[in-house]
Amino acid sequence: MSARASIIPVFVPHLGCPHACVFCNQRRITGQARPADAETVREAIRRAQQIPCSAKRELAFYGGSFTAIEEERQIELLSAAKEAMEAGKIDAIRLSTRPDAIDASVLARLRAYDVETVELGAQSMDEAVLAACRRGHTVGDVRRASAMIKASGMRLVLQMMTGLPGDTPEKSLKTAEELIACMPDGVRIYPTVVVMDTELCGLWLAGMYREHSVEDAVSVCAQIVPLFEEAGIPVIRLGLNPTEDLSGGDAVAGAYHPALGELVKSRIFYNRASAQLSGIAPGSRVVLEVHPSQLSQMIGQHRENITRLREAFALADVRVRPADVPCGEIRVLACENTENL
Ligand code: SF4
Repeated sequence: MSARASIIPVFVPHLGCPHACVFCNQRRITGQARPADAETVREAIRRAQQIPCSAKRELAFYGGSFTAIEEERQIELLSAAKEAMEAGKIDAIRLSTRPDAIDASVLARLRAYDVETVELGAQSMDEAVLAACRRGHTVGDVRRASAMIKASGMRLVLQMMTGLPGDTPEKSLKTAEELIACMPDGVRIYPTVVVMDTELCGLWLAGMYREHSVEDAVSVCAQIVPLFEEAGIPVIRLGLNPTEDLSGGDAVAGAYHPALGELVKSRIFYNRASAQLSGIAPGSRVVLEVHPSQLSQMIGQHRENITRLREAFALADVRVRPADVPCGEIRVLACENTENL
């Protein structure tokens, strides 16, 4: 998964979706209501071309169930995208869809139009959670579709959510492990946000769903992200992309934070530092050395990690400094009398 890709999104809000999943309102999430057609694709590419870009340019059909759209419309959209690729205006095509909308004929069509990456909304690998969210597909569908996409030679990206109705941190960890077993080329993690005009919003207002707070999301994602990293699977997105509509009131509750990914990275550093400081004598003075690019992640927003570590271990002092340390690692120097540190 290239960090250098420049995504040209074309939203197909709810196109192909057999029904509404309880948490979803793509019109509010994407800020777009009009269904896409070939002209939408050409217009998106024209606008993108006005911005000089040396990164790989990927046209992405997002916000619906692409492969469940009527075949004629899929072909209209894919033809416009392939035309642009042949003209050298874009470098790749990707799309998102549902696990139960993948079969051999669908994959043959996608390959014929040179689609490079298929993103599957798995959301959970727990049957009860899938049912509570009215996803309309099973855990088996995710496994089967993932295997077929991998076997077709296309790249596979899996999306999961945390904090769904009926979900628990344990179920989210299990979902992450099961997704790792599907060997995707990347994952997206979306902690649940309560979006206006969704069934979930009604459940939340009626007191039948407890919101997945930013703290809940940070806590569980700080356990999940290292699992993917250890498996060599890049987390290419964490949290909904902030939009004017979501920030302006459409995100009514839940884990909506414009810097959620940073909060999670910072919590991972806190967890690692805590593990390394286990058993340290109270009153110690500590210096934590990290890679220069990760100083702010170690310190945390508003110096949160420093304050929490000092309190949790009754430390006299905690300092952070840049050093020749591999990314993601922490070198701990500790002393009861640190005048020499
Ligand atoms: S989550 Fe996906 S399948 Fe469900 S309604 Fe939204 S776009 Fe459609």
